[in-house]
Amino acid sequence: MATFHTFQRIFNSSFQFYGLSDWLLELMPDNVNLNHSNNKQPSNGWVFRRHNARSKFTCPNCTELNSHSSSKSRKISSWSSAFTTILFRARLDQSHNGQLIGRIQMKIFEQGCQTCNMYSTGVLEEKEIKKTFYRLYLWILKTFYNVRLVDNDDDQDEPRRQEHIQQTKISHDSSRCDGCRLGWCKALYTNRNK
Ligand SMILES: [Zn+2]
Ligand SMILES: [Zn+2]
Repeated sequence: MATFHTFQRIFNSSFQFYGLSDWLLELMPDNVNLNHSNNKQPSNGWVFRRHNARSKFTCPNCTELNSHSSSKSRKISSWSSAFTTILFRARLDQSHNGQLIGRIQMKIFEQGCQTCNMYSTGVLEEKEIKKTFYRLYLWILKTFYNVRLVDNDDDQDEPRRQEHIQQTKISHDSSRCDGCRLGWCKALYTNRNK
């Protein structure tokens, strides 16, 4: 994930500001089984949380073709997704000297290009990343410290107008979404509740 250091920088400043500077952000290791059905209960101290965000995708494959060839094969494939799934798992450990160290690992699920089928990661705007970590902070407080700052932090999304949900539902390509494939994507639950 090319943008991980951006996430890490914003995470560090946000969590320092929130007074949770003993929490670290890491990339999700590749060997973790991310299937939703395997992770409904905490295991080994890890608790999972799905966050739904907005991002913009630009297919690197189609963009590359475009820059290396003549104008006749010009095709740029990009799309916005209101169902960009970010999966977090978090664990609080005690070190030898009794200090608590929290670890948060994250994975942004990829989506496939409708032109060439190549999968890539969406890019989040900085304010969207900040919002993501604010919601994560509320969840960490609730999950590991039993502190609730706001009543309604179970779902991370602000209330949206119905017609907007209708629009995004139509445009989400579940067959090319890793979040859908692994059972986490919010689009799955939005459709089911219809
Ligand atoms: Zn493509
Ligand atoms: Zn999806």
